[in-house]
Amino acid sequence: MIYFLFLNHPKGEKLYKMPSEKEKMARRYFSSGDMIESDVEIKGKIYRATIDYGVFSAMTNFDCFNCLDTCCGDAPSKFSDATRKLILGNIDEYNNLTKNIDILEELGYERKSIEESIQKDDLMIPEDHIGEEIELCTCAFRPNNSTTLCSAHSICLEKGMEASDILNHKPLICNLWPIEVLAEEDLSMLYITLPDDFTNGFTIEDYYNKACINYEYGTSASFKRTNPEGFHKNDYRPLIVSYQDTIKNSFGEKCYEKIKKKLIEEEFVSEDEFYAERQQLIKRY
Ligand code: SF4
Ligand code: SF4
Repeated sequence: MIYFLFLNHPKGEKLYKMPSEKEKMARRYFSSGDMIESDVEIKGKIYRATIDYGVFSAMTNFDCFNCLDTCCGDAPSKFSDATRKLILGNIDEYNNLTKNIDILEELGYERKSIEESIQKDDLMIPEDHIGEEIELCTCAFRPNNSTTLCSAHSICLEKGMEASDILNHKPLICNLWPIEVLAEEDLSMLYITLPDDFTNGFTIEDYYNKACINYEYGTSASFKRTNPEGFHKNDYRPLIVSYQDTIKNSFGEKCYEKIKKKLIEEEFVSEDEFYAERQQLIKRY
């Protein structure tokens, strides 16, 4: 099995190949739990998927503007042409947010070679500076001394893009994070879940320190000591609600409707919860 969302990670196989112990756990989990099967459409390709639908009712609160977690700390994926084009077309705004051009110029690079690097280098900066002078993901920026946000996402919002366009300009793994997608090596089947108490043994992300997907942790006194401003109890919503645009645009409308229908049938969520929500994807800082 592989971690499907990490297939494009710059570290390659070292990261996307699942250790055998974790694979055993994952196989046991997906063969025993309540699952549905569906076609999913990802970046124009159709895959067959086993979906752990219950996790889509998990209470989530993507309070990224008040989050101190650097989930954009690592370079998540080789960037697509769409991201490169967006950055090159809005290079001053990108630099205002990230300071990446200024940093590279301070290091002696000419503007022309910086733009060439955005066009061709996997992570849009010369390899020597990854994780050093330019720490965090290349696209990450800090609007203050705590929060970490995405410059590609901010530029899309400034340009007034729709949800589907925003998602097209960012890596798939970032759009879906922290949803976990595992797959057979030949991609004949995908397995979709979320880190939680039951899946944490085989998912890449650690459920126990993520306030956005762990209601108990995000609303605990010890978490509030480190983060008094954000993650209010009343802001938690089922994942299918908070990520509805993301799920529709990343897995396809049919897949979204199938999961939603099942959750409503099983009374995990109610239809009322889907109204009057300001989508996480188009919130502004
Ligand atoms: S950890 Fe969750 S809430 Fe925090 S920035 Fe990442 S996605 Fe947002
Ligand atoms: S969301 Fe943006 S800043 Fe964060 S890891 Fe992805 S591309 Fe980088």
